[in-house]
Amino acid sequence: MTRVRIAPSPTGAFHVGNAQSALFNWLFARKNGGKFYVRIEDTDKERSNKESEENIIKALEWLDLKPDAEFIRQSDNLPKHRKLLQDLLDSGKAFYCYHTPQELEAEQKDQELKKEAPRHICVHKKNQKKEVGGIIRLAVDSESDRVILFDDQIRGKIEFKASLLGDFSIARAVDDPLYNFAVVADDSDMEITHVIRGEDHISNTPKQILIYEALGLPIPLFAHLPLLLGSDRSKLSKRHGGTATLEYQQDYLPEALINFLGSLSYGFSKEIISKEDMIEEFDLAKVHKSGAAFDVKKLNWINSQYIKQLPAAEFKNLTGLSVSDEAVLLITERLEKLSDVQNFDYFWKEPIYEKGLLKWPPFAKASEGEKKVATLEKSIETLTEVGKIIEKFDFKDNKDMLRKLLDDFSSKIGNRGLVYWPLRVALSGKEKSPDPVDIAFVLGKEKVKVRIDNAIKKLEN
Ligand SMILES: [Zn+2]
Repeated sequence: MTRVRIAPSPTGAFHVGNAQSALFNWLFARKNGGKFYVRIEDTDKERSNKESEENIIKALEWLDLKPDAEFIRQSDNLPKHRKLLQDLLDSGKAFYCYHTPQELEAEQKDQELKKEAPRHICVHKKNQKKEVGGIIRLAVDSESDRVILFDDQIRGKIEFKASLLGDFSIARAVDDPLYNFAVVADDSDMEITHVIRGEDHISNTPKQILIYEALGLPIPLFAHLPLLLGSDRSKLSKRHGGTATLEYQQDYLPEALINFLGSLSYGFSKEIISKEDMIEEFDLAKVHKSGAAFDVKKLNWINSQYIKQLPAAEFKNLTGLSVSDEAVLLITERLEKLSDVQNFDYFWKEPIYEKGLLKWPPFAKASEGEKKVATLEKSIETLTEVGKIIEKFDFKDNKDMLRKLLDDFSSKIGNRGLVYWPLRVALSGKEKSPDPVDIAFVLGKEKVKVRIDNAIKKLEN
C-alpha cells in the first residue's frame, strides 16, 4: 500500500511551503488509495516547542489535510534509533570518530583552500578504541567509484559520487541521532513507500540511501517538489511577506489556499478546481520541476472566486456579521480578502462623511475648471431633489424603476455625476461602492432618508 508522510519540525510556524508539500503528499495518497501521515521531528530539543507543534496541527486541520493516523513524534522513536545505531557500530558499518572539532575544522578549511568537496575520511574506522566517544560516522568506501543513483519521481535520474561524501556523521552519540539517520529509521519504521519532499532535500538523499543499505532496509522511492519562491525568485521567506500558513486564515478560505498552492506547481485543467478534481487529475510525474513564485494577486483572485460561491449563512458565520442576505450578495461579489469586509461597514453602521468627498466632483479629484463650475450649492440642491424622488418611491417596486427615475432626473439637469456621486457617498461614505441603488434597496427607505438628510447637513456646514 502507498504510504506517504510529511515530517515538519516544530521549531516555528508551519510554512506555506510545508502546506504545499502536505497537499501533494495528501493528493498522492488519496489518488492511490494510500495513507498520509504526519511525523513531528522534535529531536532538536533546544529549538522544538509545544506551541509550534500545535501550530502544525491547527494548520493541517484548517486546510482539512488531516493525517490518516495519530501524529507520530520522532522523540518517541529514540529507543529504536539507539538500537539501530548500536547494530551499525557492532557490525563495523558505523564507527566512532575521535577527531576533535578543531581538527575537523582545520581539515575543512584546508579542503576549502584546495577547492575540494568538504568530506572527512576518518582513519579511526579501521582502528576503533575500546572506549565510546566522539561522533558516530557511517563507514563509506572512499576508494570506490560507486555512483549512487536514484530515480526521482518528479525529476528523473539523479546521480551522486559516493566517494565525495566521505565518512559522514550520523549521530552525536547513540542517544543522539542526526537528521539523516533519524529520517531513515523513522521512514522505514512507518513503512513509507514514497518520500515526497522539498528539493532542498535532494543532497540528503544519497546519504540516506547509504544508511538504508547499511541497515539492510528497503529503500523508498523519492520525489522532490519544487520550492515556493518569492517575487525575486529566491526561496520564499519572511521578507517576502506572510509565510506562516495560519496567517492566511484571517483573509483566505482554506479551499482557496489549497487551490492556489496546488496550481502553483501543477498544471490542473481548471483554474478553480476542487480537491476532489485535483485528486482525480493528480500524477506525481507531472508536478513541475522548477519553483513557482508565490503570487498574492493570483491568490486574491482565487479567493474572490471562492468567496462568491459561499452561501450567505456561511459567510455571516465566518465573518461574524449580522447583515441581510442581500447585503452579503453585494459584499461577496467584490471581496478578495475577508478582512476587507470592513470596507463595507456602511451596511451595519452610519457612515462618517468627508465634506470634500460628498460634493460633486469630489474636491481631490476635480480639475481647476470643474472646481469653479461645480458649486457646493449644486450638490446640495441635487441631493435634496434625489431625496424627494426616493421619498416618493415605493421600495416594493422594482430597482430598475428607481434607476429610471434617477436617470431621467440626470438627463433633465444634464449631469449624471451630480446625481449619482453625492448619493453614493451619502449612502456609503465611500468613494468606491456597489451601485447606490443596490445599496439603497439593502438599507431600506428609512435609513436612506436619514443618510441623505445627514449628508445634506454636512454639506451645509
Ligand atoms: Zn575522524
